[in-house]
Amino acid sequence: MKLLEKLETYRTSEKIALKSEKDELTYKELWEYSDNLADYLSKNLKKKEPIVVYGHKNPFMIVCFLACVKSGHTYCPVDTSISLERLNDIVSAVKPEIVLSCTDKKIDGFNTLTIQDIIKISKEVKGNVNKNSYVKEEDIFYIIFTSGSTGTPKGVEISYQSLNNFVKWISTLDTKRVEQKLYLNQAPFSFDLSVMDLYLSLYNEGKLILIEKEVQSDYSKLFDRLKNNLINTWVSTPSFVDICLASEDFNDKLLPNMDTFLFCGEILTKKTAEMLLHNFPNAKVYNTYGPTESTVAVTSVEITQDIIDKYNSLPVGKPKKGTQILIDNEEIVIVGDTVSNGYFNNPTLTDEKFSIINSQKAYRTGDKGFFLDGLLFYSGRIDNQIKLNGYRIELEDIENNMMRVDGISKVAVLPKFEDGKVKYLTAYCMYTKEILSKLKAITEIKEELKKYIPSYMIPKKIIFIEKVPTNNNGKIDRKKLMELGDN
Ligand code: AMP
Repeated sequence: MKLLEKLETYRTSEKIALKSEKDELTYKELWEYSDNLADYLSKNLKKKEPIVVYGHKNPFMIVCFLACVKSGHTYCPVDTSISLERLNDIVSAVKPEIVLSCTDKKIDGFNTLTIQDIIKISKEVKGNVNKNSYVKEEDIFYIIFTSGSTGTPKGVEISYQSLNNFVKWISTLDTKRVEQKLYLNQAPFSFDLSVMDLYLSLYNEGKLILIEKEVQSDYSKLFDRLKNNLINTWVSTPSFVDICLASEDFNDKLLPNMDTFLFCGEILTKKTAEMLLHNFPNAKVYNTYGPTESTVAVTSVEITQDIIDKYNSLPVGKPKKGTQILIDNEEIVIVGDTVSNGYFNNPTLTDEKFSIINSQKAYRTGDKGFFLDGLLFYSGRIDNQIKLNGYRIELEDIENNMMRVDGISKVAVLPKFEDGKVKYLTAYCMYTKEILSKLKAITEIKEELKKYIPSYMIPKKIIFIEKVPTNNNGKIDRKKLMELGDN
């Protein structure tokens, strides 16, 4: 059954669908409110253009998502953690006829409904949506923007069909049934990992527990929230569960109902998996793999003690039904029914990364990998994309934005690895004697950078060097820089 059809079967359900610190919405409310808002959008918008939904962990963001797709619009989620300039980049690229802001903030130059407007329309304007106006299977359901090497983000388009194929498959990993399952939502809705918990939960009439950024960085608040919401299915980046595991209280005494851990987005280490199996002996741990460009994840494997003992690093698993994984010159190529149509309004980059293989859409991931015993293993990148604390970052994105700071003429950003994972970033900035006087203090540079890029992209260390080494073709010699160290 398709996602919206399935949700319709819960349209009279009084069960809680979404719960944040301050708000909660039942399935009945979610259905009604999104109907009302969809009706408003149908009547007030002239074009079927994408709509930007701005906010952070507010259940009404989901009302907005559903209202968009019920009125035939693609939605494009943007989290408040993003810098204002990046928000403007996205809004200017999408050019939405309306922005649905689940905050008090209006977006300059764009027709905006604020949270007060959204709540009022959702609750008070009784609407009737015609199902003919729903997005069609081949239509784009959402666009998620991700770091781009040019210095501006790129939008990945995911169709309704791809989303349905993904949700159907991911549900097969989450098989334990109880009266109502509780799902953890850690990732902001602007990251595709959140698609896993959001739609898995909605599809199965679960209760999604939205954990705000501010709670995630405060142990006592976080553990209190977990204590009060006994999660069954945990969806997060490995980095987030590592933070939790740093406390000895993170075990099945705190969360006795835990039955499934689903990880995606970055390397799951043997240490993390082993600790989880030890602390939650009744739960299953899955490693899944995939980029935003192929709808969250396309491979999976249950991590058992046998697997931990057998391999040097953990596998990312076997492809789901409908997906084929090819290894071309070490690079992982994903072929199948969840591969994106391409990048929003960017045919050049789309042609570079996407193609058709055996009449199916294919995406060159830039990830290196190999098969062993029928299992796929991830073994690094062929380019300068990294994962830091679960965030996908193109190092050139940071470099291009750092060069906008007055006094910095050339810059190379390097990741510092520990246990195969990126621990932090170091920026090597080239200065010349003439601009030395113009150079700003490191704190000032970091402050200025906040205007251009999200905080999680700002390098921890900034080092000034006289010359950034280059290789024969004039490109930054990252290997040589790496040898320099960062002390
Ligand atoms: P994103 O589009 O943010 O989901 O990031 C996708 C990238 O994250 C992939 O291309 C990989 O480089 C990395 N990735 C995703 N899942 C895994 C995994 N299970 N193990 C290692 N790296 C992963």
